[in-house]
Order: sequence, then C-alpha cells, then structure tokens
Amino acid sequence: MATEERAVASLDWRGSDGAPQRDLVIAGARVVDPREEIDAAHDVVVRGGEVAELAEPGSAEIEGAEVIDAEGLLVLPAFFDPHVHLRTPGREDEEDLETGSRAAAAGGYCGVLAMANTQPPVDTAADVAALRERAREQAAIPMGFLACVTQGMRGEELTEMAELADAGAIGFTDDGLPIRNARILRRALQYQRLVGLPIALHEEDPELSAGGSMNEGAVSALLGIGGIPSISESTMIARDAAIAAFEGARIHVQHLSAVESVAAVESAKATGVEITCEATPHHLTLTDEEVRSLDARFKMNPPLRSEADRQALIEAIRSGAIDCIATDHAPHSSDEKEVPFEQAAMGVIGLETAFPALYTKLVLPGVLELATLVRALSAGGEPFGFALPRLTPGNAANLVLVDTEAEWDAGADGWESRSQNSCFAGMRLRGRVLMTVAAGRVAYRQRSFAMGVA
Ligand SMILES: [Zn+2]
Ligand SMILES: [Zn+2]
Repeated sequence: MATEERAVASLDWRGSDGAPQRDLVIAGARVVDPREEIDAAHDVVVRGGEVAELAEPGSAEIEGAEVIDAEGLLVLPAFFDPHVHLRTPGREDEEDLETGSRAAAAGGYCGVLAMANTQPPVDTAADVAALRERAREQAAIPMGFLACVTQGMRGEELTEMAELADAGAIGFTDDGLPIRNARILRRALQYQRLVGLPIALHEEDPELSAGGSMNEGAVSALLGIGGIPSISESTMIARDAAIAAFEGARIHVQHLSAVESVAAVESAKATGVEITCEATPHHLTLTDEEVRSLDARFKMNPPLRSEADRQALIEAIRSGAIDCIATDHAPHSSDEKEVPFEQAAMGVIGLETAFPALYTKLVLPGVLELATLVRALSAGGEPFGFALPRLTPGNAANLVLVDTEAEWDAGADGWESRSQNSCFAGMRLRGRVLMTVAAGRVAYRQRSFAMGVA
C-alpha cells in the first residue's frame, strides 16, 4: 500500500499553531532548485508561508514585508534529515527536542525524523503521543518520530505497529541495532505492507562485527584495534532486500558505508525491490585514516571506511543509487567520548556541519556538483512519503539561505546542539547557513547575519 504524499508542515513543531508570519522578500539571491531546473538570480517572495513568486532581481516590492539583501547568496530548497537521534526521553543531558531542532534549523533543515532508541525506547502509542506533544511545545522545525520494530528493541516480539501508526509514528526502526532474526524481520515486513509505513534498517551482522571498534583494514591492523568488516553490513542488506522482495514490502537502508553495500542496494534496485537508502556526510568525506589519531570523535557505527568505500558512496550519490544524505546525528556526553578509543561510545553530531562539510570537501574541489548535493540533502523525506521541498510558486516555503563564501571554524562559536562530539570540529569550512525557513516560517537566523539585518 502506497502512502499518500504528506507535507512537511504536517509534522509536529512549535510553528504548527498557524500564527501569522511576516512576509519576506529575499532579494537578488541565486536560486538553485535542481528538481525544478532553476539556477538563476531572483527575488524570492514568501507570502502567507508559501513561495509566492520568483521575481526579476530588484523588482519585488511587497508592503510590510521584511526585505533581505541576498545578492551573492544562495537560496536552496531546505534539507530534510530522515535519521537523527534526539536522546529524548532519557538522555536530555545530551540533547532534547529543543536543542536538537535548533541544531537542525541552524544546519538548514526544514524537517527531521527522530530514531526510537531512546531510554526507554519508543515502542508504545503513548510514547509516540508524548513525543509529538513535546515537539509541538519545543521543536523549532517540523519533526517526526519513528517507533521501534520490536518491543524494547530486544529483537524478539513485534511492537503493535498498527497502533503506533495510528498514534502518528512516521515509520519503524530498531536503529542502533540490527534486526538479527530474519523471521522477525519477515513478520515486520508483512505488517509493513498492511500499515504502509516504511521500515528503516540499521544493517549489521552482530556476529561479524563482534568486538570491533573501527573499520577492518590496514589501519585497524596497524593499531591493533578490533575491526568491523564491510561484509557485516552488505550481507545483511542482501538478506533483508531478499526478504523484502519475497514479501513485496518496502525498506529503507540506513547509513550505507561500504562499496559492497552499494552493490547490494544497486542489485536489489535493479530487480525491482522497493528499497531506498541513505549515506552520511562523514562517510562521504572521511576515511579510517582519521582513526590513526585515536580520537573518539572519529568513532561511529558503521565506522569510517576506506578511500575506495568513500569513492563508491560518492559515485552512488551521483548516480542516484543512494537516495539521500542523512546525518545520523548522534549526540554523546563528553564522558562517553573522552575515554580510550575502544571504550568510547559510537556516534557523532552532524546537523550543523552537513552542508558546509560536504560543500567544502566535495563541491569546492569539483568532486560533486552543487545541484547533486542539494538534491541529496533535500530528498530525505521522500522515502518516508514526504513531499520534496520546492522553490516554485505555490509550494510551502521550505528554503535555506546560504553564504558559500563564508569561512568558519566548525564549533569555534559553540554548537546549537547540547553535545559537541563532531568529527568536523576545528576544521576550516566554507559555506554557512544564514537563515532557514521551515514550513513557511523563519526557523533560524545566524547570529551575525541577524545583527546585520537589524
Ligand atoms: Zn544505525
Ligand atoms: Zn542512527
């Protein structure tokens, strides 16, 4: 059963009260929307929360509107992240819906989907309802919540998927853990077909990755650290794609990291399996060479892989074999990270650096076209049935204003996130989000930019 396309604005957030917002003219910006084949200077008029007009530069005059001089700046469709961890409930010392959504808005996102591996995990309708209620009070941008596939993420018994869907869950996942038991996954996919919401899968064979803290390869051998082989991921993708095909179900594969995984997804797609997938900014820009530093900021699951793996991911973004970019934003407190590498928690924050890191490391050197990056960053809602952000008149205003000339040291001014475990911290990055409009409302203004406007 296909889900109907939903508006990003249908997700929960503070702005969903419908209070009026001042009209906006973003004057003279270069507007890039690859899906609409737009790449030209325009005055972008936002009226009543919609893109009302793309006017000739300097021509738009709207009474009472705020006018932003955006010459030399870029307007892009806002980004959508289908994979974040907001640590709520249970670890609000690491992140909550307010700080997590602020980080997302600061990164140019108009929507995020939160994973269910909280403490306790999101596995009842009441859990989903409580989170949605909190989002309506605290979230700076629209956010949705996935619920667990199995009760308590124990991998044994399925949750009440129909009830969870009725309560407003956006999909299902045990992310953080794979679904080890193929019979359980098969039954979940049978329900998935009935319920109509996608299942997002963290693909990892726990026997193959047991004892591993980083990619298995030359660097792990040199350091004497236990490795996680790439086949830990790719063999599970192949298994789950086969089960999905058998059941006529739909799956979304999370955080692809390896060349064999790309091949597994490509071959599933070629045979008509309903499969989508994502890759993260860190897997697209860094390799396991970083781990030589033994800095736990480079520890995540799946781990940073080899240069050949990274190149395969980039090529798959180009070809569309990888559908979208997701950050897997995973806040951790410093006492979980400032310990020897093998004991450190896995995961990195990523919302505030996604665009600048990818722009600096892939677009500036000519590896990836800007249009390709924009397409991949804004496509994250599609596997979950959300309408893509578009800059043509009549669409809800989901857009981001970016200064691609701005240089900054990531993290030097602190983070909007409550955690600091960024693998890009301290790096000189080009490209800065100045303003984010989510579902028609200004959700973020960069501090120096906001002062300039006033
Ligand atoms: Zn995961
Ligand atoms: Zn995750």
